[in-house]
Amino acid sequence: MTIRGQTRCFAVFGSPVRHSLSPLMHNAALRKLGMDAVYVPFEISANDLPGILPVLGPMGFGGVNLTIPLKECAFRQLPDLDESAARLGAVNTIAFENGRTRGYNTDGEGFLRDLEERAAIAPEGRNILIVGCGGAGRAIAITCASRNAARITLFNRTASRAREVARVIRNRYPRCEVEPLSAAAPEPLSRAALEADLVVQCTSVGMHAGDASPLPPELFHPGQVVYDLVYTSPRTVTMAAAQSSGARAFNGLGMLLHQGAASFRIWTGHEPDTALMRHILESELYENSPSQETPS
Ligand code: NAP
Repeated sequence: MTIRGQTRCFAVFGSPVRHSLSPLMHNAALRKLGMDAVYVPFEISANDLPGILPVLGPMGFGGVNLTIPLKECAFRQLPDLDESAARLGAVNTIAFENGRTRGYNTDGEGFLRDLEERAAIAPEGRNILIVGCGGAGRAIAITCASRNAARITLFNRTASRAREVARVIRNRYPRCEVEPLSAAAPEPLSRAALEADLVVQCTSVGMHAGDASPLPPELFHPGQVVYDLVYTSPRTVTMAAAQSSGARAFNGLGMLLHQGAASFRIWTGHEPDTALMRHILESELYENSPSQETPS
């Protein structure tokens, strides 16, 4: 592409950011629409973000995505937040328009959209087990509570993080029953897994070869939906454990796709070609394996 004086600039900030697939999918979508715009990754630390954010609008940036470890820093720094960012306490998308800088969070929307599209379910009325209460688990748990989940059980290796997410949900969504589990209590975890309609795997376990599933196959069952946020493999270790017990299982590639597509709409007002974006992601991640679907 040719970069000109009026080319609009979009970016992803994070540390590390070199692994990010966002430039590939966003640039493909921008090119498909014939837009004079480019999307670039920048390695930015949490210490540097406060000095950088105020100059991006004046420099002519259209918008940026934020990834680890910047989502919570941006939330604390930005006075103008969309309801999505205010709800999750984190910003993954910033739009710069007519002198205004506004923070959004599209992670929840990305998750809900993919869950609906591929598993054909929604959190409403469901009994949900969230495994992992880091940044992503917190966002998924609060999103599910905001969508009227009946019950949410939270499990995290470091139990205090599960208790903190439970506290937020109790305060804001008192109709949702919420229980944080102690990391040292296997029986309540087994019970929660067996009773759950939906299990969402939100730890980083499964990103590396040789990782074992955080839950063993006997805790899954037919009729259950298991959604693993990890997308580095078309069939993650958690998916394999779930499918071996008859559950339907999905990886997080669709969430990555849909959170990006939602950012794209916020910035450009245009509908990106999500089929093209999915194809780009799958080709890059799975070396030309065209589909992540595997028999359950
Ligand atoms: P994070 O804030 O760093 O949290 C990491 C989480 O993983 C924490 O709950 C941590 O538990 C847990 N964990 C790490 N190693 C573990 C181990 N060996 N055993 C048990 N638990 C372990 O990261 P994050 O942003 O929440 O991301 C978590 C995962 O979700 C990553 O794989 C990320 O790629 C994926 N993700 C996917 C999408 C998507 O669009 N599909 C979006 C966001 C994130 P402790 O609190 O005890 O350390």
